[in-house]
Amino acid sequence: MGRHWWRTSVAAMALAIAGYLLLAIGQWVELAWSLVNTVGPTAVIVIAARRLPRNARVAWYLLAFGIFANGTAVVPNTIVYDVLGSDAYPTVADAFYLLFYPAVLTSVGLMIRRWPPLLIRAALLDAATITSGIGVLAWVYAIEPALRDTDYSRFGQLVRVAYLVGDLLLIFLALILVRSGGSTGPRRDRWGLSPPWLATGLITFLAGDLFWLIVGNNTVPGWVSRGTDSAYFAAFVILGYAVRHATATDEQRATAVPGPPGIPLMLTLLLALLMAPAVLVLEMSHGAFQHGAAIATGSTIMSVLVVTRLTVLLRFVGRQTEQVRELARRDELTGLPNRRAWTDELPRVLEQARQNERPVSVCMVDLDHFKAFNDTHGHQAGDRLLKEAAAAWLNQVRRSDILARYGGEEFIVLLPDTDLDAAGAIMQRLRQVTPGAQTFSAGVAAWDRAETSEELIARADAALYEAKHSGRDRVVAAGAPRPAAVGDAPAEAPARP
Ligand code: GH3
Ligand code: MG
Ligand code: MG
Repeated sequence: MGRHWWRTSVAAMALAIAGYLLLAIGQWVELAWSLVNTVGPTAVIVIAARRLPRNARVAWYLLAFGIFANGTAVVPNTIVYDVLGSDAYPTVADAFYLLFYPAVLTSVGLMIRRWPPLLIRAALLDAATITSGIGVLAWVYAIEPALRDTDYSRFGQLVRVAYLVGDLLLIFLALILVRSGGSTGPRRDRWGLSPPWLATGLITFLAGDLFWLIVGNNTVPGWVSRGTDSAYFAAFVILGYAVRHATATDEQRATAVPGPPGIPLMLTLLLALLMAPAVLVLEMSHGAFQHGAAIATGSTIMSVLVVTRLTVLLRFVGRQTEQVRELARRDELTGLPNRRAWTDELPRVLEQARQNERPVSVCMVDLDHFKAFNDTHGHQAGDRLLKEAAAAWLNQVRRSDILARYGGEEFIVLLPDTDLDAAGAIMQRLRQVTPGAQTFSAGVAAWDRAETSEELIARADAALYEAKHSGRDRVVAAGAPRPAAVGDAPAEAPARP
């Protein structure tokens, strides 16, 4: 079922439509051509859908069924009107014609069921809003008049309304298909081509319906009605062609993300909202104001939909903002809070310590000769060590302690409720669990309750510097005029300032 197969099938169907337009003379030839133009697309869908996964096929079989029912309705239609000479309305043929709408509804419903809910929710709301706007027009100028048309029996009126509702449904479904594209990846990738082809097919079908709606009860020349039939046949071919792009679509959609609504969409939604007041003004200009209830209902529905749409959008934006904030505060390699997050936390912890009159300590940690480690074992091994060290250290501190990656191979620990001795002991624990033969130097400072957070960090940093310069692999306590080296043996406590 390669390119060649598709090209041949579509060309054959196009020829069949052209043949119908140009050659059909006499109603039996016309009938035969109509059936050719129906069976062709139906067969293409059924054959092409067989290559899809089993659970994806049903939707396409339903579509094929809808096309088949609608296209073959010409048979009962010809029998009732031309053979039996009846002038009844509705007839059994209408049941066949109308089957197209629920079949397409179910088919598209099954297709979009597996698409990401985020995409579908937004698309549903947009489609419902725009369809409601058009629905107000349809009600006032087509549906309500059809329900009052005394030329028809009550049942006849309802069947006429069923076509109109079916047309609104086609608009709704086409809009959903168009609006559910998402925004990640190039347009073709994220969308797949099956939804736009489906939407085009539905709109082409709608064009045929609209033509008949305008013609109404007037008789038209044979070539005009054949031309309109061609719109239906073209719709069948386009819908059939959509199945060609069916598989790839679903998988790509799973990762698609809704795009922000653009100006064209917002303008369209606004236009839909304005439908109600526009109809109101038109009605008022005619003097006889009639459709107040319909207009009020339409605008109420649209207002609720638009506000819901905005709520969904705001929630989505809120979640994204949260994610971005979280990403901005976390170090990618180790998963620890980064310097920014740590620096934000420090004043809060100091303030708490001031209120509770509890100690706070800060430790600066820097891996020893880490450049040499990278040079010997490679950068990836260095990354791995950073990750393992972070995980091992994290196990040694309390939940209330904040271990962060300060940058490169430097880490910083904020220890609430911890005095200098205890902080030194914790640092010794970290030395013991550091992976491999890796060592670190650390500077520890306890808050003196008067200094600023910058001064506190500066003292810890100075102690770290001292640790490096006095031989590395040790913990030095800040604050003493000449900081004393401590902890060459892991169990020792740091010297007091
Ligand atoms: P010192 O004992 O004086 O601290 O020596 P050092 O080599 O650890 O210090 P220096 O500041 O000269 O080099 C730090 C090295 O840490 C340089 C860089 O290759 C390495 N480094 C920094 N960030 C990363 C990282 O994310 N991954 C890896 N693999 N290495 C890093
Ligand atoms: Mg270092
Ligand atoms: Mg360093």
